[in-house]
Amino acid sequence: MKKAVLYKKLEKEGWVQCTACPRYCVIPRGGIGVCGVRWNIDGDLYLMVYGTILTAHIDPIEKKPLMHFHPGTAVFSIATTGCNWFCKYCQNYDLSQRRKVEGWTTTPEELVKLALEYGADGFAYTYNEPTIFMEFAHDVGVLARKAGLYNVFVTNGYQSLESFKLIKEFLDGATVDFKGNGDPKFLYKYAGVRDPEPIYQSLLEMKKLKIHIEITDLVVPQIGDNLDQARKLVRWIVENLGPETPIHFLRFHPDYLMVNLPVTPTRTIEKHIKIAKEEGAQYVYAGNVPGHPAEHTYCPKCGKLLIRRYGFYILEWNLDDKNRCKFCGYPINIRGSLGPNWNKDRFAAVYLPNSRYIRVKSPSDIKKQH
Ligand code: SF4
Repeated sequence: MKKAVLYKKLEKEGWVQCTACPRYCVIPRGGIGVCGVRWNIDGDLYLMVYGTILTAHIDPIEKKPLMHFHPGTAVFSIATTGCNWFCKYCQNYDLSQRRKVEGWTTTPEELVKLALEYGADGFAYTYNEPTIFMEFAHDVGVLARKAGLYNVFVTNGYQSLESFKLIKEFLDGATVDFKGNGDPKFLYKYAGVRDPEPIYQSLLEMKKLKIHIEITDLVVPQIGDNLDQARKLVRWIVENLGPETPIHFLRFHPDYLMVNLPVTPTRTIEKHIKIAKEEGAQYVYAGNVPGHPAEHTYCPKCGKLLIRRYGFYILEWNLDDKNRCKFCGYPINIRGSLGPNWNKDRFAAVYLPNSRYIRVKSPSDIKKQH
């Protein structure tokens, strides 16, 4: 636990206001913010999960998903408990909705050392919303950057403008997760978010800071698969972030409180992809549909297949050393060069005492498809 940076004291004796995310929780002495990790102790706000992580894995960066950021590299992924959203379909609800601080006690120095020992190329703050533990992510991220590692967020984008004072000191890339096509009614009903506007503000801020951005949209069948809304979202992305911004439409799997719905039909994902292309998006992907042709990257100019993937793994690479199409020379929006780890048996889990871990499927038995 450590005193937070993102908060201010209020006139009312002992009360504070957290400024980490747009909920701007007003917290009385002894109270805790709605994310469950920011605690008012005697009139100061403390980050309860500073130095306590519940899980850590070495993942392919493509798993975040980030397909255009240091492809083929390995990322040390960490999470704490808590979240500022309440998604009824959350696949990580066990940690995001846990309201008890648990995990492995560590320090930024120790985490960076561990990441280097495991041969990771960067850090991902993921599985739960990193904004709520911003001060800890910042301290890890600054050290990681000094050690030559990159830093990425997997985030709902629900961040305050104040939080960018810290973000700008360490963040290199982000995948910003929309759900249900960003439909405000969907977000209110199924994620407990009153107003999605701050997400758009965060994206503009990231763009200003030259942080690499990829967008995901979890397409939920029957309740969050409105094609008009999807078109509106893509149009905003193309106009404000640029047509080169990668967009991933993710297939929903029933989980947590929403096990009554089926998985998203592939056909629905394909309709979303079609709309995004009609709106001018250059790189549009199908997520959670392993083996689908929309897992690959195609050249926006000549249409040739540039990067062949299966799931999180790269199977073929047709770019030159400046990330241009090998066939027509078109510059592809990819930050960083192909990492040394692609298509190798090197992704594994990190075992932490008192923490759960998952072994990532090895790519060795993946056959070339399509
Ligand atoms: S980070 Fe947590 S405590 Fe702070 S405003 Fe958001 S929900 Fe409230």
